[in-house]
Amino acid sequence: MPFEQPASSPNVSTTAGPTSEAGLLVFKRHTELRGRIADSATESMSIGRSYVICPNRKSAGIQFRNRAIVAGQAKEAVPRYIKPLGSVSPWMASVVAVTRIRKVCFGAASMTKEVAVIGGGLQGVLAAIACAKRGFNVALFERDPSILQGASRNNEGKVHRGFTYGLDDTGKTQALMAQYGSAFGKAVADLLDLPADSFIVAREVVYARHRDSLISEAGTARHFEMVAQLQEDQVPSAMRPLPKHELPRRFGGKVDSAYVVPEETIDVEKLCIAAAEALGRFATIRAHTAVDVSHITPDATPSVITSSGGSFGTFHAVINCAWDGLPEIDRRSEFASFGYCLRAKAGFITNVEAGMPDRPITFCFGPFGDIVPLDRNSAYISWYPSCLMGFTTDLAPGSGWFASLRSRFDFGGAYDNAVQAFESLCRGLRLSRRYEKALAGAILAIGSTDIDDRESKLHERTRIGIRRRGALLSVNPGKLTMTPRLAMELAEQL
Ligand SMILES: Cc1cc2nc3c(=O)[nH]c(=O)nc-3n(C[C@H](O)[C@H](O)[C@H](O)COP(=O)(O)OP(=O)(O)OC[C@H]3O[C@@H](n4cnc5c(N)ncnc54)[C@H](O)[C@@H]3O)c2cc1C
Repeated sequence: MPFEQPASSPNVSTTAGPTSEAGLLVFKRHTELRGRIADSATESMSIGRSYVICPNRKSAGIQFRNRAIVAGQAKEAVPRYIKPLGSVSPWMASVVAVTRIRKVCFGAASMTKEVAVIGGGLQGVLAAIACAKRGFNVALFERDPSILQGASRNNEGKVHRGFTYGLDDTGKTQALMAQYGSAFGKAVADLLDLPADSFIVAREVVYARHRDSLISEAGTARHFEMVAQLQEDQVPSAMRPLPKHELPRRFGGKVDSAYVVPEETIDVEKLCIAAAEALGRFATIRAHTAVDVSHITPDATPSVITSSGGSFGTFHAVINCAWDGLPEIDRRSEFASFGYCLRAKAGFITNVEAGMPDRPITFCFGPFGDIVPLDRNSAYISWYPSCLMGFTTDLAPGSGWFASLRSRFDFGGAYDNAVQAFESLCRGLRLSRRYEKALAGAILAIGSTDIDDRESKLHERTRIGIRRRGALLSVNPGKLTMTPRLAMELAEQL
C-alpha cells in the first residue's frame, strides 16, 4: 500500500542522536521522515495521523502527535531515515507503538478495512474521524455540495445536561443528557486534537419559567434539583435559583422563577469549521459530496446505492448518519424504523442594540424559546411556535421535505414575532428590526405530536444512539450534544 500523506500535518524539526530503551527506539520526526521512509518501506500504512512503517519488516514505528516511535530492530533499519529525539518513556513507547505495530504489521488485514459513513453533518464527520483514528479507511457520502451545512450548523449550540427535559417523567432523558453532556468537551478535544474548551461561548444558562409553562412552579424546582444531582463532573450546588426579588429587574411579568444552571453553550459555526479542517487532515478519509444516498444493500459486506442508481462498495460496515434522511435510508435498506417525526425550526442571528443578557436564557417549559449572546453585540434567538417551519410524520420525501419547506417559509414574519416575544420577556432588551442571518434546520425525533402536548414523545430523547443490524449501523444522535461520544462508540463497535 502506498505511503500516504495527509493534506496538512504538523511539521517537526530535527534533533539529536538515537537512544535505545528496552529494545525501543524513540525518535522525533524529521521533516523529511515520511517521504524517505516511503521510498524504502516494504510495508507502510497511514492510520489517520499515525503512521506505521515497517522497512523490510525489521522495524516498525508510528508517528504519534509530533513524535515518531520506532520499535523492533530499528537500529539497523531506521537511522538512515529518522533523526532521533532522545528520551520518551519506554512505557509510553511500548503501549502506543507495540500494540499498534502488532495489529498493523502482523495482522494488517484488519486495519485496511473500508467503512462508509452517510451524512456529512457533525455526527458523520466525527464518526469518520473516529473510524480513521482507529485505522479504517473511510468513504464519507454527503448529499449537499459541501459538508456541515445541515442541523449541526444551524442551532443554538446548547450542550445539554438534562435541564431542558422537564417533561420526561421517567428521568431517563435527563440522565442520558447529563452523561453525554459531561463527556462532550473531552470527546471533541480527543477527536479534533484541540483543547476541550475551544468552542465555549458560555458556561451557564438561565432557565426562566414562563407562567404558561407545562410544569408547575414547584415541579420546576424539583426538576432542577434532580438534574443538578445527575451531573457527574460539576458540583450540584453550581445550580442555583435566582432570588425572586431579582426577577422584575431581569424579566417581564410572565416569568415567575428562574435558575442558573451549569450548562455550556458552544459556537457551532466554529466547531463545524474545526471539524471540517480536522477531516481534511486524514488522507484515509475520502469525502464524496453531492451524492444522494438511496439505500444500503443488506449484505455482509454492503454497498452504498445512490438515488441515481450508482453503487459504491463493498464496505466492512456502513454507518447511516443522515439525520433528516436517516429514516428513509433505513426503510429502503430493510432496517426497521421507529415512529419518527421531523420538525423544521428557524433561528436568527441579530444585532442587540440594548440590554444584552449576561447569559443565554431558555424560557421553559413548552413552546417558548432561547436567546444566546454570541459576542458583545449579537445574539441568536429562536421563538416557538413562530419559528416552527413545519412538522411531519410522513418521512417518505426524506430530506426533500425540509428543502421545500425552507424555500416557502416567511422568515421575516417569524423574526418580527420572535423580537416581540423576547423584548417583552427580557427587561431592557432592544433588538435590531432586521436580522443579520436566518438559520434553519430539521429536528429528527420520535413522536407524533408537537412539544405543546404534555404527552408528546418529543419530551423523551431516550430511543436515540446507535442501532445495528449486521454490517449496517444507524445513528440518531437526538442532539448535537451526543455526537462526539457516539462517534467514538461507533468506531469502537466496528
Ligand atoms: C433549530 C435547531 C436547534 C437545535 N438546538 C440544539 C442544541 O442547542 N443542542 C443540541 O445538542 N442539539 C440541538 N439541535 C439538534 C442538533 O442540531 C442535531 O441533533 C445534530 O446537529 C444532528 O447532527 P447530524 O450530523 O446527525 O445532522 P446534520 O448536521 O443535519 O447532518 C446530516 C447530513 O446528512 C446529509 N444527508 C441527509 N440525507 C442524505 C442522503 N440521502 N444522502 C447523503 N447525505 C444525506 C445532510 O445533507 C446533512 O449534511 C438543534 C437542531 C435544530 C434544527
